[in-house]
Amino acid sequence: MRGLTLEPSSPDRWREVRGTLRRLLAEGADPAGLFADGAQGSLLEPAPAGQRFPTPRFPRGWQGPFRRVAHHRDPDSLRLLYRLLHRHQTEKGLPERALDPDVRELVARDAAVRRDAHKAKAFVRFREVAPDTFAAWHRPDHHVLPLVAGFFARRFGDRPFAIFTPDATLHVREGELTWAPGAPRSAVPDADGLDDLWRTYYRATFNPARTNLKAMRAEMPAKHWSTLPETRDLRALVAEAPARVAAMAARAERQPTVADVLPERRSLETLREAAPACRACPLHGPATQVVFGEGPADARVVLVGEQPGDQEDRRGRPFVGPAGSLLREVMASVGLPPGETYLTNSVKHFRFRGKRRIHDRPRAGEVQACRPWLHAELELVKPEVLVLLGATATRSLLGSRVKFRDVRGKVVATPFAPHTVVTVHPSAILRAEDGATLKESLSSALALARSLLSPSICRAATKW
Ligand code: SF4
Repeated sequence: MRGLTLEPSSPDRWREVRGTLRRLLAEGADPAGLFADGAQGSLLEPAPAGQRFPTPRFPRGWQGPFRRVAHHRDPDSLRLLYRLLHRHQTEKGLPERALDPDVRELVARDAAVRRDAHKAKAFVRFREVAPDTFAAWHRPDHHVLPLVAGFFARRFGDRPFAIFTPDATLHVREGELTWAPGAPRSAVPDADGLDDLWRTYYRATFNPARTNLKAMRAEMPAKHWSTLPETRDLRALVAEAPARVAAMAARAERQPTVADVLPERRSLETLREAAPACRACPLHGPATQVVFGEGPADARVVLVGEQPGDQEDRRGRPFVGPAGSLLREVMASVGLPPGETYLTNSVKHFRFRGKRRIHDRPRAGEVQACRPWLHAELELVKPEVLVLLGATATRSLLGSRVKFRDVRGKVVATPFAPHTVVTVHPSAILRAEDGATLKESLSSALALARSLLSPSICRAATKW
């Protein structure tokens, strides 16, 4: 009687199993005569008796499951593999018979090994045992270390590390994998600075609203807890979850508004100081800073644009990008002095397009959320002439029912100023093919705005 004795977690386990299966088939070993030696993790074989298969067929699609099941801890798995392969030589369509007990067993054992390999990838926690040298201890259910060795070598192979398990130890140094016998839990020290990082990460990502203890235990079996530093916080996190969920619900019920941060004593200065604390819409998150209006408190003309662009977001000032330069140029050409005008936007934070620094038009909800800031500015400045630059400013102050195209180039009545002029935004000129015509529109509108002012500003304009 000969046998196949496998080293636990032998890196060549699959090659050894495959070679033995082939040889048994070639010699005609009877599957019913084989038995597994559980104590040794071995497959013992009786004298060959039966049909020989010197060039056995191996079903397409079984390579992966066979390779994984060869790493199943139960030595009877080897007998299962041989029985399946032996039957496949004479039974047509065996791999497709999902209800066949042997096929079902193969699928079940394959799933168990896959799950265990996944857990090894997820739950191995390295500790720094020497400067820039790392070690981890893990206890898998099956002999999965050879199956996941490549994953760890690719991921962490730029520095020396070792993974200890009770069955075998993997050492990786300069891309070379070497194997050694298994080691007890004490082979790796208990804690280091990395533990704190794991715990911090886990605390930050723990979602108290999804605390399903049964699912958590299934996903993170208790036997791995001793090597998972984050589980030290689990009891406390679970205990405080109901209170955190209640607090989250209370916060969600009450969406912050501009009113939360609007100062009681209003001046342009106090508004400007309060605006960075605004959380009334999501734009404050990715933006660099709030971009508040700029100009004298007694300005007689207020120009309202859309929202800060890239340059404005970086510098924290309105109309300092290409569109702003164009606006100032046109203002100068019609004699609107910057020292007499207040420049602001409908929305005070930059809107990224995805993660890119490309201006994106604000959503209606953001314009609405930000409107109280604009109202507060206009109440303080009380301009003689208000100029709305573009559709967003028009929608913000005239309402969504008023169409920009219907009021463009006109003077309309609003509660914010004796005269309100609607015109194009300078960025539209930069984007347009026929920019000259649009520039002419802007120039005419600003000239109209200037003409609506009392003569004092016109005198000032001539000096500018
Ligand atoms: S864009 Fe306006 S409403 Fe939104 S957070 Fe900024 S200041 Fe507040």
